[in-house]
Amino acid sequence: MSTFADIDPATGETIADVAISTSEALRAAVAAARAAQPEWAEVPFAERARLLLAGAARLDERAEEVARMATREMGKPFAEALSETRGWAKGVKRTMDEVERALEPEVLRGDDSETRVEREPLGVVAAITPWNFPVGMPLEIVLPALATGNAVVLKPSEHVPLTGELLHEIFSAELPEGLFGLVHGAGDVGAELVASDVDMIGFVGSRDTGRRIMESASRDLKRLVLELGGKDPLVVFEDADLDAAAECAVKHSLRNTGQVCCSVERVYVADAVADRFEALVLEKARGWKHGSGFDEESKMGPMVSAEQRDKVVAQVEDAVARGARLLLGGETPEGAGAFYPATVLADVGEDLDISRHETFGPVVSLSRFSGGEDEAVRLANDTPYGLGANVYTADAERGRRVARRIKSGQVGVNRYLGGAAGAPWVGARQSGFGFLGGVEGHKQFTIPKSISYPVA
Ligand code: ADP
Repeated sequence: MSTFADIDPATGETIADVAISTSEALRAAVAAARAAQPEWAEVPFAERARLLLAGAARLDERAEEVARMATREMGKPFAEALSETRGWAKGVKRTMDEVERALEPEVLRGDDSETRVEREPLGVVAAITPWNFPVGMPLEIVLPALATGNAVVLKPSEHVPLTGELLHEIFSAELPEGLFGLVHGAGDVGAELVASDVDMIGFVGSRDTGRRIMESASRDLKRLVLELGGKDPLVVFEDADLDAAAECAVKHSLRNTGQVCCSVERVYVADAVADRFEALVLEKARGWKHGSGFDEESKMGPMVSAEQRDKVVAQVEDAVARGARLLLGGETPEGAGAFYPATVLADVGEDLDISRHETFGPVVSLSRFSGGEDEAVRLANDTPYGLGANVYTADAERGRRVARRIKSGQVGVNRYLGGAAGAPWVGARQSGFGFLGGVEGHKQFTIPKSISYPVA
């Protein structure tokens, strides 16, 4: 039996050796899901929702156990893992309400016909998920996929296999045999799942992996939802509330040790206020202590792995070598654990690797602009990505205008992006293909079918 080591990134110790799913086991999981799906699709929505809500209640009961596992496996502060778990357990009700709306048939009238556009499930959905939100990311796909009448086979990230296993155990206890399958392994197992007899792939992860999945899925024209990375800008105009903007820049560059797809990755500050802004950022970033996720003092845990940290180290070193000013951090701590300190860079050049490629680490990257709104918009859009963006200005009209001009799926004006629940999670340009969440997102786990009848 082949296994892979599930490593605690705070200590470098092995939590468990996890069995990699064999090809036979993977095919069996997909076949079992396929066998269970037609009957599940016939279960009335209210009953499907009731079972998933029962799963949510179990998740809430076991929230501490799940959160402890998430912290051990990927390092985030336990309080954050707990609020992620409780928040998702509580959010299942809203998801079910949204799915109910997504499934409502539309009735169209012609001169002599009535057409009902009904929503049908796609069949078997492969859910392939990352490690940065080890509870939220799997559930973001698994819940709407199941609620709309599909079967699911989940492959959690190889960095959080046991958190994935707990989620699977908790929800499958309420569901028909075989409907919700689980496989373990790294990218090769993910690729095998994509190529297997599934109808749709719901994926959250990196752009490069998204591309590979799309290529493989094209053979059978499998349906896709890909939620990918970003290089999100935050623009600070000279009239902005600098304290609020600095708070947003620091929090959302450093939260989850910077390992968030919609992290603030590039901060553009109007020249006239840049010195004051840098001082505010520095003061706030100093408060972001790193340490074990089980230590209440830690605002940041370790990075998920030494490899992930190496990428951040390389970007920071390259930036400093090419003229960026290192204001804070930037030194790799000694000892076990993939720790990296809160780091602040200023005067970061446009063409540096750190300005072009996703950092996914705890770095606040500051640059100045002097050409007004057009220049700020040009810089913000100077990326193939288009996930999120944030704009700070006291001029409400300019805020609205810049939000429209920035090419991204989500923009926050004088606040961090993502406000009221229920909006879809959209990655524009190379940050996604399709989208998740909200009524529109849930519809993507279905295909419309129009059935027409004569009307006298
Ligand atoms: P990250 O390293 O940020 O998690 P990845 O895109 O590498 O991003 O991984 C996200 C998920 O995709 C993980 O579950 C991983 O195992 C899986 N994965 C990696 N490569 C492939 C691939 N070629 N096909 C399918 N899934 C893959």
